[in-house]
Amino acid sequence: MTKKINKRDIGKLLTQWNQEFAIFVPSKEGDTTKMTSWDGKDVSFLDWYRNTVIPPKASFFPPLEEMFHFQKNKGSYDLELPASDGQKKLIFGIRPCDAKALAILDMIFKDAYEDPYYLSKRENTVLVGLGCTNPYDSCFCTSLGSNPSDSANVDIMLTDIGDQFLMEAITDKGKSLIANTSGLDDATEADEARAKEAQETSYRKVTKRVDTKDIEERLLSCFEDQDYWEKVTAKCISCGICTFLCPTCYCFDINDELVKRQGVRFRSWDSCALPIYTKMPMENPREEKWQRVRQKVCHKYEFYPMNFDVIACTGCGRCIRQCPVNWDITQILASLPVKV
Ligand code: SF4
Ligand code: SF4
Repeated sequence: MTKKINKRDIGKLLTQWNQEFAIFVPSKEGDTTKMTSWDGKDVSFLDWYRNTVIPPKASFFPPLEEMFHFQKNKGSYDLELPASDGQKKLIFGIRPCDAKALAILDMIFKDAYEDPYYLSKRENTVLVGLGCTNPYDSCFCTSLGSNPSDSANVDIMLTDIGDQFLMEAITDKGKSLIANTSGLDDATEADEARAKEAQETSYRKVTKRVDTKDIEERLLSCFEDQDYWEKVTAKCISCGICTFLCPTCYCFDINDELVKRQGVRFRSWDSCALPIYTKMPMENPREEKWQRVRQKVCHKYEFYPMNFDVIACTGCGRCIRQCPVNWDITQILASLPVKV
């Protein structure tokens, strides 16, 4: 089922979908960009959007999330879960790398153990992907089995074909939504040919590469090489930004706030890059910076593949773009000793 829509009609399309869904679109907020609730009018993101600084994982696994309220009684507690708004959501314009990141997060929040906070939002959300036409120099998704037009993890995929978007339904959820949407035209063979050409052009624009061949073994073989890790992590300042903004990082901390007998339990993003990580329950087993950076790299490229058979990096490049000292994970991977 392949359709198309004029770009000038995107506002009308979102208005129509807004009858059923809360719509989230790329938005500027101060100095940053993220997916936020659509105001019902503004589609200017179509002009400036490349990718958001804050990844869409924040819509499913927020930086700060209330888990429950509690009241402390004599010898017992009363718990109250936060009310679900029950509202169906639609994220418009998610990039293929970030949709893939959600599929990677599903493995930990769904398959390893079931996290109702994450899963309820995930199940209630339609993902409308938008292929990249202008990837950053720091993007390297094509080295990780994906590409700027990858539709594998979205419900509907849009491809820019000039004044229009080609619109493909990928999942049953996507098919049903398109079948119930008015104002779409059928795509022609010429439209599909233009989409293919646009996708090939986008693919060629991703020039940064990382060699993932034997990557697990290469990391394993230099795991104890302290000199190597000290050298490649020297300029890191342990700010944690690369992990907070990484779409596949999921470390969190849990805290209680108690005022008199009323309390709230919440969780918040945490980072293995920080020296204080895990200090509450115990001492951080990775006191040295090189150990923490090694953990970050090995978790994505060695441990996650061992557990889930997928590298937990999508090549979105955020950690490169946002690092205050220009630390580049691809350079570290390229400098790994070659397996003999
Ligand atoms: S963003 Fe850069 S400086 Fe900050 S922890 Fe990550 S690698 Fe280190
Ligand atoms: S490690 Fe860097 S490039 Fe890979 S998914 Fe995380 S932020 Fe993106």
